[in-house]
Amino acid sequence: MRFHHDLPVDDAGYYGRFGGAYIPEILHGNIERLTEAYYRYIDDEEFNAEFRGLLRDYVGRPSPLYKAERLSARYHTNIYLKREDLNHTGAHKINNAIASVLLAKRMGKRRIIAETGAGQHGVATATVCALMGLECVVYMGATDVARQQPNVERMKMLGARVVPVSSGNMTLKDATNEAIRDWCCNPDSFYVIGSTVGPHPYPEMVARFQSVISEEMISQLGEQTGRGYPDCVIACVGGGSNAAGAFYHFIDNQAVRLVAAEAAGLGVDTGMTAATMQAGSEGIIHGARTMVMQTADGQIVEPYSVSAGLDYPGIGPLHAFLASTGRTEMVAVTDRQALDAALTLTRLEGIIPALESAHALGALDLLEFAPDDVVVVNLSGRGDKDMHTYMKYFDNEKA
Ligand SMILES: *Cc1c(COP(=O)(O)O)cnc(C)c1O
Repeated sequence: MRFHHDLPVDDAGYYGRFGGAYIPEILHGNIERLTEAYYRYIDDEEFNAEFRGLLRDYVGRPSPLYKAERLSARYHTNIYLKREDLNHTGAHKINNAIASVLLAKRMGKRRIIAETGAGQHGVATATVCALMGLECVVYMGATDVARQQPNVERMKMLGARVVPVSSGNMTLKDATNEAIRDWCCNPDSFYVIGSTVGPHPYPEMVARFQSVISEEMISQLGEQTGRGYPDCVIACVGGGSNAAGAFYHFIDNQAVRLVAAEAAGLGVDTGMTAATMQAGSEGIIHGARTMVMQTADGQIVEPYSVSAGLDYPGIGPLHAFLASTGRTEMVAVTDRQALDAALTLTRLEGIIPALESAHALGALDLLEFAPDDVVVVNLSGRGDKDMHTYMKYFDNEKA
């Protein structure tokens, strides 16, 4: 397969048999104009200078690559944390939000639509809209509005309108449906998708905007270890954007083991899971052919994870492809394993991770490493938004 912008994707947005753009007629014009603008600006010097300038001075990049000594000792290997949790707004989502809104501005758009699960993408998009003086509407499942209250309040203070969605199990899938519906009715708006999902060119575009993560790893590993690539990169996967960014520059380097951690929920065989690669089958969701959790007749099965950011019944087509070819190893990490891993990191390193990132940390228990391996865990976000959930679990256990 030909590599297009370093990704195994063809001109129609296919990663092997996954991807493409399965969209209603009414969205064709929108997608066409977006694709045109994306390819026009992605190599534009002025666009990239503005993007890079904001990443540095507004987000605080490069995010540190931190050697976690006590965690390394626990696992008898060398563990480095890519600190996306230290970005402005507390997660990797801001990288994509900035580039997407810069693109929207160049397309002359004044109104931005976004969907959000845990609220991190909503907060990132609302933040950039405040910065650039644009109107912002964020769709969020009513279940997530309740369990991610601090992020809802942040979005409101930033001036965004948060629209609770009460269809389905009222989480990310349902919010995405509503955002797409809005875009159909308002073609003059720009839809900022928060992950490597949706119709082409979104998965490619979002992966590209997040690729700064592995770009920085290369130079940071070079400085710290004398070798510009690790033995292993581990990232959690909801739709797949932090993993895509962390894997991006290593996909073609077979010396690097790539591990993607899905949310197993209560267990992949319990029916209460969000581990799409294990519990899903091929289908179409939100405009892309990919792996989907669905019934035999194609109805979406409601996913479950303790982590709102991983509670999605699909997976980006890039990851479906990389897993199906064996390039990535998929592991499924349960709620319990993620919660334990979060507490372990907190007590060994003084870092409270996002519940999503805790799934990547939980994968450490499921893998084996050599003592001189260099392992990078992408710490996609910080845990402030999850304190309520953490306290609920850890308090119950003390009682
Ligand atoms: C949104 C989110 C995720 C999951 O989304 P991906 O697109 O799979 O990266 C993971 N971690 C954090 C902190 C998030 O906010």
